[in-house]
Amino acid sequence: MSFTPSGKSIYLKSRMKTRKREIFMKVLAIDYDGVIVDSVMDSLFVSHNAYLKVFGSNSKKIFGGEPFTLKNWPVIQKKYKKEMEKYRSLRPYIRGATDYGLIQKMLEEGKDVQSQQEFDEYRQSVEFDFQKFHDAFYQARKDTQDESFEDWLSLEPPYEIVLKGIRKFVQQGIKVIVATSNRREYIASVFPAEYYDLPIGVDDILDFSFGEDKSSQMHHICDKYNVDYQDIFFVDDQLAHLEQTRKLGINVFLAGWSYATMQQKEIAREEKIPVIEKEKDFYSVIKKYLKNE
Ligand SMILES: [Mg+2]
Repeated sequence: MSFTPSGKSIYLKSRMKTRKREIFMKVLAIDYDGVIVDSVMDSLFVSHNAYLKVFGSNSKKIFGGEPFTLKNWPVIQKKYKKEMEKYRSLRPYIRGATDYGLIQKMLEEGKDVQSQQEFDEYRQSVEFDFQKFHDAFYQARKDTQDESFEDWLSLEPPYEIVLKGIRKFVQQGIKVIVATSNRREYIASVFPAEYYDLPIGVDDILDFSFGEDKSSQMHHICDKYNVDYQDIFFVDDQLAHLEQTRKLGINVFLAGWSYATMQQKEIAREEKIPVIEKEKDFYSVIKKYLKNE
């Protein structure tokens, strides 16, 4: 029997490799915002404050140029119902944190878009300090968390039925990971038992540092978990991410219970991308596909 420099026999090494591959035969990769949590209000709260920090505050700005605080938030929600609705209507086009800054700018300018393409064209054409906004966005979130973690958490309620489904998959030995444009350390901070109770370790949260582009994250999943693209099952609420990663051979699913528009769902169906309309169908639909593959 031959031995490797570490002293393990080649036979044993290949057995270990096979076992590792068996455990991670399939990977369920789940986006965070709009799939696991409803972060629409947290993102508005944080992005508005970040926008004011970067571009200054004046009365012409939306929401009266008033910074949001955990204290004035209940009043703000009542006072600016129309602006909130407008913000919600633009949320489906978000890919990453900096897009929330663009929405603030669009609200300020009274600009509207009707499709992902129009949103992307606006992003390409506009002058905007993305890096500065990005840093301010995460700083504003941290400031709010520091003020009161529990109150901040109430801005971002989880989809409870999805949490249950994820726990079931983990119990069954499915490798569940998070693939997000958000930040790993912040997501890991809400997974402990006293909050969302999700048994996903920090190493299994792939964030923007693995690429804001989800294709880069999929490459990384193959390397890290020793799987092929066709072994990855990816759920996201942003159709553009699915269209992009599907080309690699990934099994993709559109989460329909959050922000995806009728138009986006319609396009997904035309492209034969399964749309999981409701939270309650998350577990059964994914289970079915995992079995069939
Ligand atoms: Mg999302």
